[in-house]
Order: sequence, then C-alpha cells, then structure tokens
Amino acid sequence: MRKRDRDKFESKLSEMRKDILRVIADDMKQGREGEAGEGRDTYDIASDERDREINLLLGDRERKKLQLIDDALARIESGEYGECDECGGEIASGRLEAMPFTRLCVTCQDEFEQAQRTMHTESASAVAPRYPGGDFEDDTF
Ligand SMILES: [Zn+2]
Repeated sequence: MRKRDRDKFESKLSEMRKDILRVIADDMKQGREGEAGEGRDTYDIASDERDREINLLLGDRERKKLQLIDDALARIESGEYGECDECGGEIASGRLEAMPFTRLCVTCQDEFEQAQRTMHTESASAVAPRYPGGDFEDDTF
C-alpha cells in the first residue's frame, strides 16, 4: 500500500475513533446532568485519564469498535495494514474505504460468514439479534 493511502486511512480511522469517544462522552454527560462544569471543554476527553474512565464505561459494542480501530491503526504503524488476516492477500481498497478497520478480504469474509451461518443453523432458535445499523458487526464478525 502506498504511503499516501496509508495516511488517508490513518486519518479516517482517527476520525472514527474520535467520533466514538465523542458519542460516549455525550452519553456520559447525559447520565450525570449538572455534574460537569458549564465551561468544560468537551475535547479534553482526549486526555489519558479520561480515556481510562471511558474504557470502564464502554459497552461491549463500543469497546469492540474501538478495539478494531486501534488494531487497524497499529497495523498501519507496522505496515501490515491492508493485508487479509486469513490469506495474506491484499484487501481491495474499495472495501477498505467502506470499512477501514476490516481484517479480512471479501473472499475470506464470505467464508467466515458462511461458516458462522452454518453454526447458527445448528441452534436456529437461539440466533442472537443483530445490532440495528451495525455496519461494524455485520461485516466484521
Ligand atoms: Zn483473505
């Protein structure tokens, strides 16, 4: 992958990460009305201290998303970004555009989902409900 593309995906992932943290911070603010000072800057959620606190309060879903994004950022660092975890092949850039945090190429993802579906049919009555609008989960797990 060219450096220019890597940079592009890196900033994209950083944006996604910030968005998630912002949503979580909003949730937290609503949960404790009145406690936060009026003049408090929302963006100081970026501090380490705050990060830790957020991590404790994160739901599984957000935690997973953050993990995927952090993973992807780490792989950008190490130069593995854009390679499929399963077959080592290159992940199509269109797919990365849509899901910058994906670890599998389309082929392996399909196989993975088919395997999961087979597993699910074994216990068809206990199929877990899907998250609404969960692009992350739908395609990554
Ligand atoms: Zn693959």
